[in-house]
Amino acid sequence: MQRKPYVAGNWKMWGTRAQTRAYCPRLLELLPPPPQRRADVALCVPFTALDVCLEAVRGGDVRVLAQNMHQAPEGAHTGEISAPMLTELGVHGVVLGHSERRRDHCETDRALREKLPVALAAGLEPILCVGETEEEREQGETERRLRQQVWEALEDVADERLADVVIAYEPVWAIGTGRTATPEQAQEAIAFIRALVADRSREAAARVRILYGGSVKPENAAEILAQPDVDGALVGGASLDPESFAQIVAAAP
Ligand code: PEP
Repeated sequence: MQRKPYVAGNWKMWGTRAQTRAYCPRLLELLPPPPQRRADVALCVPFTALDVCLEAVRGGDVRVLAQNMHQAPEGAHTGEISAPMLTELGVHGVVLGHSERRRDHCETDRALREKLPVALAAGLEPILCVGETEEEREQGETERRLRQQVWEALEDVADERLADVVIAYEPVWAIGTGRTATPEQAQEAIAFIRALVADRSREAAARVRILYGGSVKPENAAEILAQPDVDGALVGGASLDPESFAQIVAAAP
């Protein structure tokens, strides 16, 4: 099955409204026009820049995603943002379960299990992040950890919606460290995640897009993106520079 590559830039806590206004037109200049683009392109930006980003990429076929969402539609959750608030803005999707949110905000697999169906029901494309820590890898626990994260987060997603989730395999030890997984490590883990999805639905496993994330740069992107099960990249640091990000998009096969 031919899956269209997907390259998403995760700005994390970067991107004032002024920076967003400067960044987006430059990125659109650098990307090939949509009909000639081999990959779907997305920007995952802070809540405060979402509307500016949506306006600045209008017509450019770039998806705009938020970086988190609460599972409740409204209520006593100070500081949180709900799915209806995101859909009202017109965003395409939302990153869920990034390791920095798991680490800094106690995001649990249990909460993700509630968030995924809520996002899908609202028409948002979720990018579900999973990945093992360095300690888990060293102890031979990578597969156990990935199984737990993938199975629990997807438990309440109906089989026929599984392929609407984008999964990002992001080994924690490779995020923001400059230590990229080797193409073989990325392929092995992503093939394992695809097999986990196949345990639920073979059809969904053939269609679901699974990205690699962790210190992807223009220099290493082509080799990683060439792996048969790697359907794209979630790019943090290197996405803050439009030139580097456009080069990574161009590296998609
Ligand atoms: C990320 O934030 O999802 C990420 C992969 O970061 P970096 O590319 O900087 O490692």
